[in-house]
Amino acid sequence: MTGQRRRLYHEAIPDYGVPLTEAAGLRRVVARNPGPMTGHGTNSWLVESEGGWVVVDPGPDDATHRRAVLDACDGRLRAILLTHHHKDHDGGTVALAAAAGAPVHGGHVGAPMTDGETLYGLRVVATPGHTMDHVCFDLGEGRLLSGDHVMGWSTSVVMAPPRGSMGAYLASLETLRRSAYRTLFSAHGAAITEPDPFLDGLLHGRRRKIEQAATALTPDWQSAEMLCDRLYSALPEGLRLAAMEMTLATLAELEAQGRAIGGDQGWKVA
Ligand SMILES: [Zn+2]
Repeated sequence: MTGQRRRLYHEAIPDYGVPLTEAAGLRRVVARNPGPMTGHGTNSWLVESEGGWVVVDPGPDDATHRRAVLDACDGRLRAILLTHHHKDHDGGTVALAAAAGAPVHGGHVGAPMTDGETLYGLRVVATPGHTMDHVCFDLGEGRLLSGDHVMGWSTSVVMAPPRGSMGAYLASLETLRRSAYRTLFSAHGAAITEPDPFLDGLLHGRRRKIEQAATALTPDWQSAEMLCDRLYSALPEGLRLAAMEMTLATLAELEAQGRAIGGDQGWKVA
């Protein structure tokens, strides 16, 4: 993977609110919340299990989307699982749980989950990094619901500490790499059908960015904003906040490696 561009997975604008069958016992309903951070919108995943459908990420607080998810469950919504606490994933959780009388696990509004435990046939895979509470769900047969940890259309944002962690994110990518999945179904966009080269590309790209940041540091203090401009010069304005999160996460990782010093005046080489 030397300087090679990662293949991205794009798709046309999907039919919003329509249950799309992705595999046997696996449906997705796409919410109409497109944007620079969400692509065409959030994928709410429906996994058939004994006794009904398990919904992973109800999506934003949007009554039309909620109705569509309920309808796609054929009146048999058994439980709700959350990959993490961001609003485009969990905003509609409380209302959907109330409408269906279903239990909730994960995120900030559900019962806590533990790495490795199996809920309704889905195995929890802890993948902190994007956020510290992020998990993926292993469906068996080489299939994984990868949430915001790995997405086909865009690089995931790693939030600044303490909300996220670049070191944890890299370790979580390695976790998936070791498992040799066949397909990743993410929370935004199309499925990733060749996960291993994709994960290698992500690891390579992140590590290269960390080295770029290390090179940008000098013995003089520089603000995080200045360093962000140098690392992410060509970004549209809508992604500026995300770029700052990534910059701070990258600098914190360099600090953890003993290569950067952060202080009130900014950042400098250690
Ligand atoms: Zn997120």
